[in-house]
Amino acid sequence: MEAWFKSFLLLDKDIESNSYRKEVTGRFIIILAFIILFTLMLGNFIYSNTAIFSVNLAMLLTLLSARFLPLKYRKYDAHFVLHFMAFGIFLVVNFNQGQEYTPIWAFLYMFLVMSLYGHQQGLKICVGFLILLFSLLFSFTNKTVTMMEFMRFVMVSGFTLFFAYLAEMLISRSFEKLIATKAMLEKLTRTDALTGLFNRRHFNEMLPVQMSSAKRNQELLALAIIDIDHFKQYNDNFGHPAGDVALVALSDLLKVQMKRGNDAVFRLGGEEFALLYQAIDKQSALKLLEDIRIAVESLQQYCELESNITISAGLLLIDATENFSVDQAYELADKLLYQAKTDGRNRVVTSKNHSKGKLDLSVG
Ligand code: GH3
Ligand code: MG
Ligand code: MG
Repeated sequence: MEAWFKSFLLLDKDIESNSYRKEVTGRFIIILAFIILFTLMLGNFIYSNTAIFSVNLAMLLTLLSARFLPLKYRKYDAHFVLHFMAFGIFLVVNFNQGQEYTPIWAFLYMFLVMSLYGHQQGLKICVGFLILLFSLLFSFTNKTVTMMEFMRFVMVSGFTLFFAYLAEMLISRSFEKLIATKAMLEKLTRTDALTGLFNRRHFNEMLPVQMSSAKRNQELLALAIIDIDHFKQYNDNFGHPAGDVALVALSDLLKVQMKRGNDAVFRLGGEEFALLYQAIDKQSALKLLEDIRIAVESLQQYCELESNITISAGLLLIDATENFSVDQAYELADKLLYQAKTDGRNRVVTSKNHSKGKLDLSVG
């Protein structure tokens, strides 16, 4: 039972957005409506009020059948129930002439409105509701309600509204802060601090995702691993800070070149980078990488580099017929990079053919 309540109220879900709370409130309102209607129905059954019993039963069945509507119609059921509750409060207050503590339902109503509509819209709805309720109650003063009772109700409901507004505002602000902090932390965990590119951790997450999505959509996926040539020497000659400047300059170039929707650039560590991108065919995948390699050769003209740098790259193309594991794919791309290094650096090596994880390492 507890588990059912938790799952119905979405309490087992992660807090993803501010609308989560509205969703929880909406579901709470539905449970509340069920309990109230069921209790009323039982009471009217016991006291043999057949007419009201039938009305209650019809309402309960309506509420129940609304649960089976498609989601897009069911979205507003809590809103409908809440406005119906307001209507019911007016009706019963009028019927009881302000007696039998019926107006106290207003307090519950105000908190539910705040939580379902947010503090700004909630305030407007509640003020409208209270004005109507106060007018109705005022019409019974000096008849069934004393002026003192009326004033007491006005004051307590005024304070309650103010507190409900304040609480809702504070909760929604904390929620926004929490969500923003969560998003920032998530971004930090996948970002490389020096270059702002995605880091290795995100690469390890993305590679399997991209591989299976490419397979599903019958797309050609390109995995390129890029490494700066003789970068140790560059560092030794010009110092580590100058090396960092070069890493940032190369990263910026990669960002500019890889700007299509599904393109992703990663810094795997040190002076090693990876690209993941969709390709139409092998030629276009290779051309993109060649263009980058050539652009790096003249990077010094545009950035404050101490000397020219060059890159070597291994390019692995993974098509839907290929059955690489993620580790195999990475290993093969790394082998191609190694080949580019041993072939003399400043070049791109791609496989001519590869099947079942075996590579033909001739330059494509
Ligand atoms: P190769 O052409 O074979 O790749 O030679 P290499 O010198 O580039 O390769 P090696 O692996 O011997 O050296 C990589 C160098 O990259 C070592 C280190 O000085 C430099 N490096 C790694 N990370 C950073 C960094 O964050 N900042 C700077 N400035 N240098 C880095
Ligand atoms: Mg290197
Ligand atoms: Mg390296």
